[in-house]
Amino acid sequence: MVFRTFNSYLKAAYHTEVGKICIDGGFTCPNRDGTKGVGGCIFCGERGAGEHLCAAMSVREQVEDYFRRPHRQKKFVAYFQNFTNTYASPDVLMRRYTDALIDPRIVALAIGTRPDCLGEDVLDVLSAIKERIDLWVELGLQTTNDDTARRIRRGYATEEYLRACERLRARGIPFAVHLMIGLPGEGTDELRTTVDTVARTHPFGVKLHGVYVMDGTDLQADYLAGRYTPIEKDAYIEAVIDTLLRLPPDTVILRLMSDCPPGRLVAPAWNTDKAEVHAEIRRRMAERGLTQGMLFTP
Ligand code: SF4
Repeated sequence: MVFRTFNSYLKAAYHTEVGKICIDGGFTCPNRDGTKGVGGCIFCGERGAGEHLCAAMSVREQVEDYFRRPHRQKKFVAYFQNFTNTYASPDVLMRRYTDALIDPRIVALAIGTRPDCLGEDVLDVLSAIKERIDLWVELGLQTTNDDTARRIRRGYATEEYLRACERLRARGIPFAVHLMIGLPGEGTDELRTTVDTVARTHPFGVKLHGVYVMDGTDLQADYLAGRYTPIEKDAYIEAVIDTLLRLPPDTVILRLMSDCPPGRLVAPAWNTDKAEVHAEIRRRMAERGLTQGMLFTP
């Protein structure tokens, strides 16, 4: 295996194939409600990540609805995906997370959030939930370059990420990090700085996203005005390989690229070639004798 895949991790941890239930927890984001900003990050759609989900249903209804359909897996991870899923009072958080646990086939919770939304009261809730079920937090970092962070309107400094890692580690809460490849103004040097910084925080998981332009976003306006050019497919494949070499060998690679919601992709057209990109990353790594972590220095 040239890198540590999410499926292999799940299979080892739960001794069976594990499915994923994506949940819209009905939260918003400080980058949208005026606390940090109103427009959101420049690449983010109006429903946050997980545009296809149904915010009209409660968490419980979404889980029940999911299990009304047949699924070949016997165990599942419930993933709180849209917006910032720790951005509410502790009572609300506890209720929504607990509502996802109504079905015993759910064996773990993954909670997508921002490093600046992890106060001690929130960590108390996460610690309590972790007593009941496996749990990890997914931090939308994207880059450690604060100039890029300002350009994409992330709304917090990288220092917040480093502090969040320390607080999560102190509580024994595993964390995964979302990184974006092909951000405006970023090339190989900026990506390597981000990856090396994140590698030193030794996350449980990393999720890689190629930046794509979705319709209705501010990045679309930049793209149409010629201010943003998406990364080419070959450059993306090489950037992913370089990233995998630099990450710790035991970090789980949760994803190699992301999907644009159906019908919303503006560019790059190759973003739909997911299977081909995956296969090419594996093929090139195997051909060159490369494995995850080869360039990681603990
Ligand atoms: S922090 Fe996440 S949910 Fe909020 S605007 Fe940015 S990408 Fe969207």
